[in-house]
Amino acid sequence: MEKEPYDWIQPSLDTIRRADWYRSVQAIQSKSGAVVQLEGKEVVNFASNDYLGLAGDDRLIQAAISATQEYGTGSTGSRLLSGHREIHRELECAIASLKQTEDALVFSSGYLANLGAIAAIVGKRDFILSDTYNHSCLKNGAILSGATIIDYPHCNLEILQTLLSQQRHNFRRCLMITDSVFSMDGDLCPLPELVDLAEQFNCMLLIDEAHATGVLGATGAGCAEHFKIKNKFIQVGTLSKALGSLGGFVAGTKPLIDFLRNRAATWIYTTALSPADTAAALAAVNIIRHEPQRHQQLWRNINYLKQLFAQQLPNLELLPSESSILCFQLQDSKAALQVCTQLKDAGIFAPAVRPPTVPTSRIRLSVIATHQPTHIERLIAATKQIKA
Ligand code: PMP
Repeated sequence: MEKEPYDWIQPSLDTIRRADWYRSVQAIQSKSGAVVQLEGKEVVNFASNDYLGLAGDDRLIQAAISATQEYGTGSTGSRLLSGHREIHRELECAIASLKQTEDALVFSSGYLANLGAIAAIVGKRDFILSDTYNHSCLKNGAILSGATIIDYPHCNLEILQTLLSQQRHNFRRCLMITDSVFSMDGDLCPLPELVDLAEQFNCMLLIDEAHATGVLGATGAGCAEHFKIKNKFIQVGTLSKALGSLGGFVAGTKPLIDFLRNRAATWIYTTALSPADTAAALAAVNIIRHEPQRHQQLWRNINYLKQLFAQQLPNLELLPSESSILCFQLQDSKAALQVCTQLKDAGIFAPAVRPPTVPTSRIRLSVIATHQPTHIERLIAATKQIKA
């Protein structure tokens, strides 16, 4: 037994450091954008989830300022007590309209939306099928629900079908959960096949649209629009990536949303989203709907980056991706950290993502709509100079 109850912490940190898994923060000292000041150095930003370049947009900033002036800074209570404002409802209607669902509910973050939704709709008598590459909030939502959790190998439909045939009859309800765009790889879930399996086995399906909203589909509505599927499945998302604000949402049928208002603990027992964040997200949804050129520019940038990688860096393959997340793998954590430092020295901000977050170390690039061709060319030039 340790002499003192907190003595284990420093040795544990030392172990994390020795494995090159230690994490620390770096301060950005400027407005969100394609080029930012990172700890005193100007860098081209390939680390941001601000996919449509809206987090620094004057209209979102003005919306946040006006809402703050009108309602104050904090929302002062949970939605069911003193926290509800009309703009929360306006935002929910705008999200439902973007997502083509009957209704939506806004949470204080995407993480909380997933925890709250999953834990509300399944419990001890149910089971969850979860893709092994799912985001932490899907995994922790599953644990919180108390349901039996069975992981299936990444996007492996054959094993998923076998598990459903073997297990479905043993449980009351079944919920399949998956990222729609996998956050650390950028590939897509096989939505049409998942919808078919859900129907065949009488299961619910929940997709996490964090990296799909504003990015996928003809208008940026997400994965369902990309695959042209209209279905009752549950869509969870964040207001903090392409929508440039903070917060999360669940979009789905009216009964589902009404049920969550009554049962989702992370919605009922937490303070409502701030007026500023709500108003900024509402402005973003309106911009997405009226300015398709942002979304089109994002895809031109994604395709340009892929094209230059294939032409000029044939030995550095990008992982298969159909989104704005593009990664190249490195041998181990140390190599990923070294490449990240070399890129930073060359004026490129691109994070190293390492175990335990992902099974293999990599550099993760996020393309955004406000990147100029020259920014992408600078990334390629810097990557070519990397010394292994
Ligand atoms: N889901 C996925 C796939 C994510 O990548 C993230 C954020 N990294 C979240 C959910 C959580 O969203 P938020 O930041 O709004 O909590």
